[in-house]
Amino acid sequence: MAQETVFSKIIRKEIPSDIVYQDELVTAFKDINPRAPSHILIIPNKVIPTVNDIEVEDEAAMGRMFSVARKLAKDEGLADDGYRLVINCNSHGGQEIYHVHMHLVGGRPLGPMLL
Ligand code: 5GP
Repeated sequence: MAQETVFSKIIRKEIPSDIVYQDELVTAFKDINPRAPSHILIIPNKVIPTVNDIEVEDEAAMGRMFSVARKLAKDEGLADDGYRLVINCNSHGGQEIYHVHMHLVGGRPLGPMLL
């Protein structure tokens, strides 16, 4: 079984966080260190360390992450001007927390790289 990170504690509400969406497959919460006016992390509730570890059985959760990103982008008023979805993988990708997460960032022109 994959090792838990701080994100599992956030899912279970064992530590404080600003959760903006949660269902049976995914959880979304505000990044503790926002790099843009809107910066939300969308994660599967199941511990999946990296994109390399995604299995066919995880496809529903992965699809839900995109559906929730679309909804939250609209809720945050980002949809028309645009936003960025980023998933980092392993050290060259700059991944710090080994629980798959999609960054939803927007609210200003983002430039070529951000995360
Ligand atoms: P990564 O570099 O792994 O793609 O991104 C990890 C993200 O998780 C970073 O943007 C970091 O600010 C965020 N983060 C790390 N620890 C916490 C935490 O305890 N709470 C919240 N809300 N975000 C966290």
